[in-house]
Amino acid sequence: MNYTPGRFDREGAEHMDRIAKTVFAPVYPVLAGQILDRCGISRGRCLDVGSGPGSLGIALARASDLTVTLLDSSPDMLAVAEENAREAGLSDRVSPLAGDVHEIPLPAGSVDLAVSRGSVFFWEDLSRAFSEIHRVLAPGGRAYVGGGFGTAELRDAVQVAMTKENPDWKSFRDRNLGPGNRERVAGVLADLGLRHRIISDDSGLWAMIDRGR
Ligand code: SAM
Repeated sequence: MNYTPGRFDREGAEHMDRIAKTVFAPVYPVLAGQILDRCGISRGRCLDVGSGPGSLGIALARASDLTVTLLDSSPDMLAVAEENAREAGLSDRVSPLAGDVHEIPLPAGSVDLAVSRGSVFFWEDLSRAFSEIHRVLAPGGRAYVGGGFGTAELRDAVQVAMTKENPDWKSFRDRNLGPGNRERVAGVLADLGLRHRIISDDSGLWAMIDRGR
């Protein structure tokens, strides 16, 4: 099956899971290390928004003391994520939660570290989504939202493999991680008045949001 970005039904979930466990597999531990390092939060409650099969949240749980909630609007993705957490022996610290980023089903101030990879490109209302992420952050909490592959080497290796599945994959990636989205995300965060930093380098395109005290 060719890779079709944006398919989040059962077939899409199985396909994303296969990619996450093969081509993308080396990416998640690298991203987890970068997130822990850049955000400086390694304990408390973590929310992986648009977790898909849960690979980033699971990598973060492996590399830290965080308790991780995997949030996704696709029940098929969450079923795979729950199984993956179980297989990783992390069911006590990694659990699924059905919900939409535009209306996160968690109380205000209940999350120390919110992360999200590869999901923001599908959100309909960025302003509302980022407001919700900010709402659930606890004082001192941080969010790390965007997309990417961690390093130039990983990005290029993923490109070679993914282009075999879908010849349009590079243009999809370049559009997602390019200047258009960078300006769009930065504009929304500035309009909301959220303290943030945009990271656009070999690790990808990321918005780091600081909730402050
Ligand atoms: N984060 C995972 C990763 O990097 O492997 C999965 C990325 S996948 C390309 C995008 C995920 O975002 C899908 O699982 C999809 O269901 C989820 N998603 C899309 N829109 C969403 C929304 N509005 N709220 C919550 N999840 C959403």
